[in-house]
Amino acid sequence: MYHHVKKLMYTVEIDEPDPRFGRMLLEQFGGANGELAAAMQYSIQGLNCEDEARKDLLMDIGTEELSHLEIVGALIRMHLKPMKESREAAEADPLVAIAGGGGVALQDSVGNAWTANYLKVTGDLAVDLRSNVAAEARAKIVYERLISFTQDKGSRQALQFLMTREITHMRAFSAAIESMEKPAFSIGIIKPTPGLVDQFVNASTGEGEEGKDMQGPWNSGNGLHIVKPKAEGGSGLDTKPYDPQPGTETTSPADSTPVGEFVDGAKGKGLKTAHTKTQKLKAS
Ligand code: MN
Ligand code: MN
Repeated sequence: MYHHVKKLMYTVEIDEPDPRFGRMLLEQFGGANGELAAAMQYSIQGLNCEDEARKDLLMDIGTEELSHLEIVGALIRMHLKPMKESREAAEADPLVAIAGGGGVALQDSVGNAWTANYLKVTGDLAVDLRSNVAAEARAKIVYERLISFTQDKGSRQALQFLMTREITHMRAFSAAIESMEKPAFSIGIIKPTPGLVDQFVNASTGEGEEGKDMQGPWNSGNGLHIVKPKAEGGSGLDTKPYDPQPGTETTSPADSTPVGEFVDGAKGKGLKTAHTKTQKLKAS
């Protein structure tokens, strides 16, 4: 159930309306990393979530994002206001001024209509939570860039508030992944192919104007090692066929139910879980 309270989560004040900046702000209203996308992504994931604890988390943050939509919408309306009467201001965005009457609409900063295609909802909790960490990181950097393009004190402060909340959310989603107590790269119920999973293929080789081969913890270390491609006379990736083994990956009691032919098959085999007993989580 949703309930609207007639006040903003953060009170917005601006000194000088700037219609062109208002147009830039639309990116966080109806854009790919904007507040509506965040609100819908987490809320729809929440509707699907069968883990009671993390469903609560998804609904909490999904709902807060709707309050952010309201804040950024209020901020944008203040900046767009001159468009309602001034031809010069209207020229900052004819679509907003003429089709939208100088108000906010579900579009991004260049007028692309909002679309559900922005949303990442897989129905697998461990996957969805990772999408959410990335979504929060994107929202954070967009807010930071918006801050860097306005000198208006009230706007900067409102954007600072919104930007900060995204980092809070990023921390919450990260903690939710960790609290599932799965090994770092365990997704689903089928273990990746041994050996192959540790191979990092050096697919961009040689030295030239565009750089040279480099080594780092992403290709040597952390269990990974570099493999020379066959095209370069190396052994290439291990492509020996290997049968998928459902029920071999370490799972969590919070995991989403596997789908398809594995729903019963995996259960019959007895999934290995990271827990010997059900997770203890406090209700509040
Ligand atoms: Mn937000
Ligand atoms: Mn957020």
